[in-house]
Amino acid sequence: MTSPEELKKYIRDIADYPQKGIIFRDITPILANKKTFREVVELMSVAWVDKKPDLVAAIEARGFIPGAAIAVKLDAGFVPIRKVGKLPFTTIAESYQLEYGTDQLEAHSDAVTRGQKVLIVDDVLATGGTASAAVRLMRKLGAEVVGVQVLIELSYLGGRERLSDVELVSEIVY
Ligand code: AMP
Repeated sequence: MTSPEELKKYIRDIADYPQKGIIFRDITPILANKKTFREVVELMSVAWVDKKPDLVAAIEARGFIPGAAIAVKLDAGFVPIRKVGKLPFTTIAESYQLEYGTDQLEAHSDAVTRGQKVLIVDDVLATGGTASAAVRLMRKLGAEVVGVQVLIELSYLGGRERLSDVELVSEIVY
C-alpha cells in the first residue's frame, strides 16, 4: 500500500487556480495510475465496511469519481449531490457560505428513504462548507449520516471544526 506521503507525489499542486491565492490539489495523476486509484478507493472504503451504509452520496464533480467506486466496494447505492439546476427530477436544496455570497447543493427529493444510512464522499475538504451542507441536505431527506470521507484534508483551513457533529475521515492531510 502506498503511504499517504507517497500518494502526495501523485497530487499536482497548481498555484493560483481557479483564483489567486488558492493552491488547487489536482488528483488526476492519482486517478490515471491504476495502482494509486485502486488503493485510494480501498483506503476511502475501509473505515465504513462495518457501518454498512445503504448509500454513498458524493459531491459534484470530483467526488463522483471515488464515490461511485466506493459505493460498489461497499455494496451500496449511489446518490449524486449536485450544483443547482443539474438534476432533472424534483430536488431539495441546502445553502452554504462562499467567500463572497452563497451557493446551493441539491439532491433528488426521493434520493433517500427515511432512516437509510448514508456515507458522504468528496475529493477535498477545504473550509468544510460544502461537506457540511451535504450533511444537512442528507439529514433533511431523513438520512442517518454515518460519516464523511474525503481523500484530501486541507487542515490549515479548519474544515474539520465545521463537521464536529459527524465522523470525518481523510487520507492525505496538508
Ligand atoms: P470547501 O467547501 O471550502 O470545503 O471546499 C470543498 C470543495 O471545493 C470540494 O468539492 C473540492 O472539490 C473543492 N476545493 C476546495 N478547495 C480546493 C483545492 N484547494 N483543491 C481542489 N479542490 C478544492
